[in-house]
Amino acid sequence: MRALVKSKAEPGIWLAEVPRPAIGPNDLLVRVRATSICGTDLHIWKWDAWAQETIRIPRVVGHEFMGEVVDVGSEVGGFERGQRVAVEGHVTCGHCRNCRAGRRHLCRNAEGIGIQRDGAFAELVAVPAVNAYVLPAGMLDEIGACLDPLGNAVHSALSFDLAGEDVLVTGAGPIGCMAATVCRFVGARHVVVTDTNEYRLGLARRMGATRAVLSTVDLREVMKDLGMTEGYDIGLEMSGNPAALRALLEVMNNGGRVALLGIPSEEVPIDVNQVIFRGLVLKGIYGREMFETWYRMGTMLQSGLDISAVITHRFPAERYEEAFEVVRSGQCGKVILDWTV
Ligand SMILES: [Zn+2]
Ligand SMILES: [Zn+2]
Repeated sequence: MRALVKSKAEPGIWLAEVPRPAIGPNDLLVRVRATSICGTDLHIWKWDAWAQETIRIPRVVGHEFMGEVVDVGSEVGGFERGQRVAVEGHVTCGHCRNCRAGRRHLCRNAEGIGIQRDGAFAELVAVPAVNAYVLPAGMLDEIGACLDPLGNAVHSALSFDLAGEDVLVTGAGPIGCMAATVCRFVGARHVVVTDTNEYRLGLARRMGATRAVLSTVDLREVMKDLGMTEGYDIGLEMSGNPAALRALLEVMNNGGRVALLGIPSEEVPIDVNQVIFRGLVLKGIYGREMFETWYRMGTMLQSGLDISAVITHRFPAERYEEAFEVVRSGQCGKVILDWTV
């Protein structure tokens, strides 16, 4: 079968013929229909320090995808051939304390599809059945391929009660933009988004941000302009940029709650006194809650949550090089690879 493989210890990802994956008794075999490219895939493409430390080559990459169940392991219940599924990319151990307590997103032994095990930029992928989520009827394939990053946005946004609150999102990448949409959908008042990339600020505006401003803009001026007198109630840090995090902490109201999703590439010094004296709550977000986030985003999408604007480019899988080039440029939202052609 065709697959995109990290096969050499140098920048790049290559289309190759690889053997079909075998499935175990608890697995599903999924024929991939649509995939989306993640920042993580770009790290693997670039072969940066994180990728060199984490990826063992050769590795089939890719973890944001949907497809059709074409084979069902002998011990699997509740799934059948022909179902359309999206798949949680974190494969959890099932035996650590958090897994056993139903907090699988906090598993100590999680492995990533397309990272520590073969991934979904391929015609077929084998996954544990427990990781599959049956797509609601009528959901477009390309939306199904974006549930992993949408799940990051939903997990972050729904960590706090947002109704009637003012939200600051630092980082207008696809997850920041989707988070803006989710915050408005669940009843936030103002959602202010910051970034250094004008294209993505435009995307954030199209996706419901009240204001989308360059990171150099004084956030207190934006507050004044919007009639906010105290500070932001909720902060969603989605850039991984140290300056953005510090700017966010500066303008939180006392008692503000902050979700940290963006991954910095180095240690980030912050003024801890701001956290202590202003009673801020900081929460780290990794992945999606299994599987509450999946059910909640599925039902929100069925009841009117519209993230379609986040998808800005579509390519047949064969043209993956162009697709990665677009992702590298930063002039895009989500970029979809179509594996059905
Ligand atoms: Zn991803
Ligand atoms: Zn576990």
